[in-house]
Amino acid sequence: MTDGEENLKVEDKGVKDLARFTHRIHTEYITTRDMESFINIIKGKINVVVDIRWNTYHKTKQGFSPKEFKTHLESVGINYFYFKELGNSVQALYNLKEFDMAKRDYLNYLKYNSKAVKTFKELFSKFRFKKNYCLVCYCNTEDPLLCHRFWLKEALINYKRNILDLPENYILKKITLEDFQNVL
Ligand SMILES: [Zn+2]
Repeated sequence: MTDGEENLKVEDKGVKDLARFTHRIHTEYITTRDMESFINIIKGKINVVVDIRWNTYHKTKQGFSPKEFKTHLESVGINYFYFKELGNSVQALYNLKEFDMAKRDYLNYLKYNSKAVKTFKELFSKFRFKKNYCLVCYCNTEDPLLCHRFWLKEALINYKRNILDLPENYILKKITLEDFQNVL
């Protein structure tokens, strides 16, 4: 086997690890939902809920205060962590048409705010093989441009990719996203 072939094998393993990691991070929202319907959506699929709301008072009345949320989830065997520092504290500065700027500022916040960096690393260290995670906030959107739960997911995947020593944009340049999703 030549050096080149060996490198390719190591890279393939890295891509598989990254694909597995990516598949373990889901996202959900709580706005327009009550506790029962939320739990029905994630039950059997998710082991750990990661609450990333900057403010939690909006849904406190419906049982979604961090304390009640934790109690409800643990009663059905789902772990719960609340990471206020991973909430989107910067989005409020923008009007609704400036999401690209809001995303950029949120990612900078994760990179340079010392509390956010510490919390981000703490969350990353909690990820375990074979468990499924769900990042949860308010926004009832599935558009990755519009909510920080998708931006955080992207940041986690990029952090993992750096640890695996896969170069930036490796996935998108080397293989298509569809190939990537079929790696498993
Ligand atoms: Zn959101």
